Parts: sequence; C-alpha cells; structure tokens
Amino acid sequence: MRFDLMTLFPEMCDRVLGESILGRAQEKGAITVHTHQIRDYTLNKQKQVDDYPYGGGMGMVMYAQPIADCFRAVCEQAGSRPHLIYMSPQGAVLTQRRALELSRLPHLCVLCGHYEGVDERVLDALVDEQISIGDYVLTGGELPALVLVDCIARMIPGVLSDDVCFTEESHFSGLLEYPQYTRPAVWEGREVPEVLLSGHHANIQKWRREQSLLRTLRHRPDMLEKAELSEKEREFLRRQAEQAEPAGPEPSAGRELP
Ligand code: SAM
Repeated sequence: MRFDLMTLFPEMCDRVLGESILGRAQEKGAITVHTHQIRDYTLNKQKQVDDYPYGGGMGMVMYAQPIADCFRAVCEQAGSRPHLIYMSPQGAVLTQRRALELSRLPHLCVLCGHYEGVDERVLDALVDEQISIGDYVLTGGELPALVLVDCIARMIPGVLSDDVCFTEESHFSGLLEYPQYTRPAVWEGREVPEVLLSGHHANIQKWRREQSLLRTLRHRPDMLEKAELSEKEREFLRRQAEQAEPAGPEPSAGRELP
C-alpha cells in the first residue's frame, strides 16, 4: 500500500515512519511512504503558505493553492488519484473498523493542517474524508496523520509477522484485550495467573476470553453493546455486572475484580 503525506513538516513524519516496525515494513516493500513539503508548491517568492483569515480573528489559514498543486503532483507521480484524507478535529473520530476498511485501499494521501487549519475551498474541492484522532485539538496534523498511517499499516499483510498480532488485540474483535504477562513467573511477589503456566490451551483460551469480557465491562461498557457475544457470554457479563462495584479507578494488580 502507498501513503503520501502532504505536510509543512515532512522530516518529522519521515523520522517517525522510518523507525521500528513501519521502517522495516518500508524496507521490505510492504508499504511505501512519500512525504511532500507543501511549501515547495507556493507561487510567491517568500514561500509563504498561510495568511490572515478573511473576516478577522486569531491565527493564520493555509492557502488552498499550494495544497491543491501538491495533491496534483502526487496524483501525477502515482499515475492515479488516491483517496484524500484531511486530518481534522472536525472529522469523524478514527475507529479500528474504519482503519481496516482504509487498509484495503491501494493508495492513500493524507493532508496535515497547521495553524488555524486550511482554506475551506480546498477541502470542498479535493478532500474525500476528514478524520479526527479524538475530541481535542493539536497544533498540527502531523501527529494525527502518523497515528492514522500506523494504525492502517499494521493491518497490511507483511507488516506484522502474523495477522493474529492485530486480530486478537483490543478493539479489533470489539472487546479489550486480556492481560498479558512475560517472565519471570513471580515478580516482586506478584505471580502470573496459574492457568497461563498450565500449558492447557483450552483453559488458557477460556480464561483470556473471560478476562477480555471483564476488562471491557469495567473500562468500556459502551463497547459491549456492539460486541458479538454468545448468550452464555452475555449471561456471564450480567452476573458480573450484578456483583460489580460502581465504576471506579483502575484496580491495582493486587486486587481482584469483583
Ligand atoms: N481551527 C481548527 C478547528 O477549530 O477545528 C483547529 C486547527 S488545529 C490547531 C491545526 C491542525 O491540526 C488542523 O488543521 C488539523 O490538521 C490538525 N489537528 C488538530 N487536532 C486534530 C485532531 N484531533 N485530529 C486530527 N487532526 C487534528
């Protein structure tokens, strides 16, 4: 899959995406990432990319023209028009489901805003979708774009060692993931749950599923409404909910769930 990022800070994106799993995914050719400096497409001598907002008010607004020309260059280089996403706190909040759908596209282009944002006309003319990474405002679209690319890229075949690496994780199945432990079996007096040391695969699977259900009930009960659960699992949750304390802070690892 190909990603093109249009930004005023391409080095910031290159640095992050060149590291770790996504860096290796690029070396292997599982994904390709191209970053584009929007400033290179300005037509003024000062290479200015923004101006005061019409109507007054605080901050600066990014010009439409360099963004549109940058996008045209991306289309020309790629030989086709990618789906164009504008990272914006006004967009639909990113979900695992939307990221999975986007991971099936061959090519995505992501526009990172800055300052007060971008001239609305370029959004009207070119942008296919606006995505937010949460209901808060950041200084620029680079971190949101990196979040989006990371979330999508790890579901592309060849990026992680196995699909199970992401299909069993929080949110993919509609539940939060079960707790994970590694060596040593006892750390500062705290023991790994015995079932995980038993080697009994079916019991381990059962324990993990129950832990997933319990965690989701405690931390994100809203997710349970949409989760695909058996009648037995719903009954298990009903019993747990009846016994549960009112939602409170994260229980310490030493305390048992109600
Ligand atoms: N004036 C804009 C508003 O009130 O909607 C906010 C502009 S914000 C300071 C600058 C840029 O950061 C935006 O153009 C967008 O690209 C990015 N950004 C900020 N918060 C974001 C979020 N929660 N999700 C996605 N992008 C965000």
